Amino acid sequence: MTALDCLFCNIVAAEIPADIVYESSDVIAFRDINPQAPTHVVIVPRRHIATINDLENSDAEIVGQLFLAARDIASQEGFAKDGYRVTMNCNAAAGQTVFHIHLHLLGGRNFSWPPG
Ligand code: 5GP
Ligand code: ZN
Repeated sequence: MTALDCLFCNIVAAEIPADIVYESSDVIAFRDINPQAPTHVVIVPRRHIATINDLENSDAEIVGQLFLAARDIASQEGFAKDGYRVTMNCNAAAGQTVFHIHLHLLGGRNFSWPPG
């Protein structure tokens, strides 16, 4: 897959518009088009990585940055103290539909466990 074929690479490149809530040199985050909570943000590395299975050991830093972005956005959105959920789906059984890794950040309501 090339960047041109990937929806989130196109959002990173600003070829497709998105409601961006956070940007750093390596990470961007934008509101999910089909929100599953009052706040539903998708946090992605600017560099294309298809799934968790494709991570290299040298990607540890970028994975950490996704979580640090989640921490900052949760605070920005006002639900850091109440609580929130972060999820990363991997491949078909987990329901991954966009093959560019992304951390879902969901907040603004209560969540049940186990998830569906
Ligand atoms: P996945 O199912 O791969 O874990 O998550 C993909 C997410 O991307 C879904 O929650 C879906 O609603 C979101 N999504 C799909 N297409 C677009 C789009 O064009 N713009 C935005 N902002 N989100 C999208
Ligand atoms: Zn991509």
